[in-house]
Amino acid sequence: MTVRWGLIGASDIAATRMLPAFHGLDGCEPRAVVSSSFERAQDYAQRNDIPVAYAGLDELLADPDIDAVYISTTNEQHRDQTIAAAAAGKHVLCEKPLALTVEDALAMNRACAEAGVAFGTNHHLRNSVMHRKIRDLVASGAIGRPLAARVFHAVYLPPRLQGWRITRKGAGGGVVLDINVHDADTLRFDLTDDPVEVTALTANHGMAGDGMADSAMAVLRFSSGLLAQTHDAFTVQHTRTGFEVHGEDGSLRCTEAMTQEPDGVLYLSAGGSEREVDFGEHEDLYFRSVRLFNDAVLGRGEPAATGMDGVWSLATALAAIESAESGRSIPVTIPGV
Ligand code: NDP
Repeated sequence: MTVRWGLIGASDIAATRMLPAFHGLDGCEPRAVVSSSFERAQDYAQRNDIPVAYAGLDELLADPDIDAVYISTTNEQHRDQTIAAAAAGKHVLCEKPLALTVEDALAMNRACAEAGVAFGTNHHLRNSVMHRKIRDLVASGAIGRPLAARVFHAVYLPPRLQGWRITRKGAGGGVVLDINVHDADTLRFDLTDDPVEVTALTANHGMAGDGMADSAMAVLRFSSGLLAQTHDAFTVQHTRTGFEVHGEDGSLRCTEAMTQEPDGVLYLSAGGSEREVDFGEHEDLYFRSVRLFNDAVLGRGEPAATGMDGVWSLATALAAIESAESGRSIPVTIPGV
């Protein structure tokens, strides 16, 4: 069976990462795209080999030949588009952050559950074989009780993406909603643990507009007592990303851990020596995300990151923003959870 996809948003991420998967995977077909500009939709469809361009969301959602939608518009549009897609009976894979408030993200989950459609959050890093190996090693006790983690996610925002992320707070711009959500999700996934409290500081180092952060550091307390440190930036050009977990009996550290590429090397230190960990072949993170979502649509398992995973990462990032604004430590709370 083929899952036929409608793309909501003529975005960069769809063109650069997701369409190669929609075109390249068996059982998967990109059928249509909609944009707020019909001209852009037509141009985008032609450039990306998508058969149909729609002028409006209602038209795309009324297309009976679309089974699932991938939403990659700016963040303030995700809620209404998800709820409309669910009402039309389409399965929904939505980009992060799911929404701008936890209540909205919960409403999106409810709408999809009530409609009986699959709902996923496109947290790509869970699809990394390296992060899955870290999760297995931590869970199996390879480093003993985990005490601390560090996430190095300071990057340079490429000039082609220096648009709404650094100018439009109302679109969910700013480094915390853009990058910290991935840290929160990856930590939850790798540690099999949930954050309970966040303290953060943010800064504007000149790239983002007034009142917006382009740099952030946070400390998260997890329910096990583990402390995690995150560093996110749009402004750091001369370093690489990384991820570390430190336990009572050993440490895991990996390079290139927070990128879009299927990349990185993982090391385990224990008993006074360090060795490279074999985790098999890297796989394209976005291909795996689409493959698992396709399977979920066909009733075989769950998306790599569920809608509730998207609620958790959003709640954590919003706690970081509130902490930076208030100077207080903020609990991570999700109504009803
Ligand atoms: P883009 O800026 O490329 O696209 C966002 C929207 O901007 C599009 O939907 C489009 O609106 C509009 N747009 C795009 N190009 C133009 C243009 N030339 N002129 C006017 N408007 C334009 O954003 P990204 O692809 O970087 O991000 C989209 C979403 O994906 C966000 O939610 C982001 O957080 C997420 N994302 C996730 C990543 C991941 O790895 N999971 C990585 C990168 C982004 P319209 O559709 O109406 O034409």
